[in-house]
Amino acid sequence: MGLAKGRFIIDTHVHAQRHAFKWKERGIKPNWAKLAEGMPQVEAYDNSPRLLYDMEIYGVNMCVIMPAFGMTDEIDAEIVKAHPDKFVSLCGGTDYLKKVREGTVKYSIEGFCEELDRLLSTGLYVGLGEGTLAGRVPREKPLPWAERFEEISQMMEVARKHKVVVTYHTGTLSGYAGARGLNTGGEEWRNPALAHDLASSFPDLTIIMCHGGMQGWWSEMYMDPVLHVAAAHPNVYLETGLYWAELYEKPLRDPNIGAEKLVWGTDWGASIPQQWVPGFKPGSYADQSRQQGIPAHQVDYFGWSLRQLGKAADIFDLPQDDLNLIMGGNAVRLFKLEDKLPHTRLFKQYLNIPQT
Ligand SMILES: [Zn+2]
Repeated sequence: MGLAKGRFIIDTHVHAQRHAFKWKERGIKPNWAKLAEGMPQVEAYDNSPRLLYDMEIYGVNMCVIMPAFGMTDEIDAEIVKAHPDKFVSLCGGTDYLKKVREGTVKYSIEGFCEELDRLLSTGLYVGLGEGTLAGRVPREKPLPWAERFEEISQMMEVARKHKVVVTYHTGTLSGYAGARGLNTGGEEWRNPALAHDLASSFPDLTIIMCHGGMQGWWSEMYMDPVLHVAAAHPNVYLETGLYWAELYEKPLRDPNIGAEKLVWGTDWGASIPQQWVPGFKPGSYADQSRQQGIPAHQVDYFGWSLRQLGKAADIFDLPQDDLNLIMGGNAVRLFKLEDKLPHTRLFKQYLNIPQT
């Protein structure tokens, strides 16, 4: 057992910016409630040097950058421009949403979609990033699904126009108040089966379920609904970076999911450490802990995740060409990254020719 290795490794879920909460500058004594309150306004800085360091150490060839609260599409685009061979980025309309929060722009779904259209038209982004569908618009109470579905459908139309990938967040953290206190804008994080509606209405769009039902914690409560969605729709893919080894079994064995529909993506940069419970199943898993406090260090996602994937490959005797798909080949296809590869024909591909 060891770290999973592959021909061209792509982490499809990283955050290349890091939050600076600036407690001192804000004149606040650190506490959980203030953290939860302040997170949506927190600023982030370019953290690509640390990311590049980890990529080098673990042999990760490329990363797909995701937006998140406090992080900006503009900084992500700068990071991509500086390292076009290492990064592509998804966008989230972060500048528009910041203006909404500051009160200089009044939110409308039409305005937001215009902004997404503008961002995708620049050619600097390859899809709609984590949390975009949920919107990060402060609302007094979450919209009912029927109304949110209407809003999300308009965003999906923008993605359709640009033929780009859409990501759908699944699961919520159970850890410290900063994560739980976030207003996710709606219920789809807690109810991934709602993605059935999107996958059926937009069968031509690629939908990647962020975290594939396992954003953290030991509970598998979101796994089955997510697998149900992935098995039901050819256009739905699962991101697996926070899976512990055994979690790979069901999607790998399901003939309607399989290695072709799994993409490795960890959430690097999101500061979710691993919890260790020897003798428990799982013996380690991603989660935050109020008792530990907020991780000030750069949590090592690649190491844990690649170990779990390596273990899974061993347990299930996964052929290397299938492992290569999970680790990069599928992402190359979905995000159209063929020109980043050093050679053609690196990933599983068969010609169908008549037997006689
Ligand atoms: Zn993330």
